[in-house]
Amino acid sequence: MAKRDYYEILGVSRNVSEIELKKAYRKLAMKYHPDRNTENREEAEEKFKEVKEAYEVLSDAQKRAAYDQFGHAGVDSSAGGGNYGPGNFSDIFDSVFGDIFGGAARGASGGRRVYRGSDLAYDLEMALEEAVAGNTVKIRVPTWKSCTTCGGSGARKGTVPTTCPTCHGHGQVRMSQGFFSVQQTCPDCRGTGQIIREPCPDCHGQGKKRDHKTISVKVPPGVDTGDRIRLAGEGEPGENGGPPGDLYVNIRVKEHPIFKREDADLYCEVPIGFVTAALGGELEVPTLDGKVSLKIPAETQSGKVFRLRGKGVKTVRSNHTGDLLCKVVVETPVNLTARQKELLREFEASMQEGGKRHSPQESSWLDRVKGFFEDLGSK
Ligand SMILES: [Zn+2]
Ligand SMILES: [Zn+2]
Repeated sequence: MAKRDYYEILGVSRNVSEIELKKAYRKLAMKYHPDRNTENREEAEEKFKEVKEAYEVLSDAQKRAAYDQFGHAGVDSSAGGGNYGPGNFSDIFDSVFGDIFGGAARGASGGRRVYRGSDLAYDLEMALEEAVAGNTVKIRVPTWKSCTTCGGSGARKGTVPTTCPTCHGHGQVRMSQGFFSVQQTCPDCRGTGQIIREPCPDCHGQGKKRDHKTISVKVPPGVDTGDRIRLAGEGEPGENGGPPGDLYVNIRVKEHPIFKREDADLYCEVPIGFVTAALGGELEVPTLDGKVSLKIPAETQSGKVFRLRGKGVKTVRSNHTGDLLCKVVVETPVNLTARQKELLREFEASMQEGGKRHSPQESSWLDRVKGFFEDLGSK
């Protein structure tokens, strides 16, 4: 089944503000509350999940950007979607209204507060050819590894963390606030449920240390600067069993010595001699997949652009292949010998005989200059 557009699900415009987005979301979340939909509970639950998923993506600036750029393909993941499996409606509702009532999302590990790991960003520089053809690139990203000194417990060797006496290991404490009795993160253990009296000196009680990992990124053909690839679950690990964050790989294509890219089209400049420009001829021009020959008609002026259809780039988001646009630049000859200069003077003299008819641009330019001065004189 085709997935519905997230903005459509929430009934908001594509440039909706964060505040309006939240408002729309809460309204719909309340509407599909199971207690208000006892007769069609299942349907309401489905709607609720849909609304929640849409909000989760659009309320996250990075995910929203990815969604705006690539649609569902930019944010879909089988790895990151585990937190709204079927049948656990109460879990969903807890995490939705947690922020309203001051409660906390609770993980499968009991009552301890879980934290999703942070997202990471990585800037990947690529050559134009590589970006156009696609590639699998290995990158090194920071990660954490379990501290070997304390075996990940965070407690000094020979000691163990003790159960937090305030929350009895639940990580949560119940507090009364007016009519509500609400859960709050335990202030003494900050939700971990454990107290470390003597922290491991190696990891300062964190139980983990900074490390690096190498991962392979599959870059699809046709990417360009500004494109972003999301690797679900490759960000920082979560805490207390929380899900890991995502890794966003930002593509940056290096400047190419010959080609400039603009979306699907490539541009290049080709210098040609003035004799070829005047008499016509054939040139070899480079393309991303080898040289091709380009016919230059006689009387070609400098700056003329020749379009080679289908010799551009097939972009990542469409099947359309762009063109290569070659701009010829007529070159003035340098380092002339005495003989060559003599030939040119002779050539120039023969041009004078023909008047301005040999120089279409010059004559029209001179006409315009003349008109300009006449206008000045009449004022
Ligand atoms: Zn340690
Ligand atoms: Zn505690």
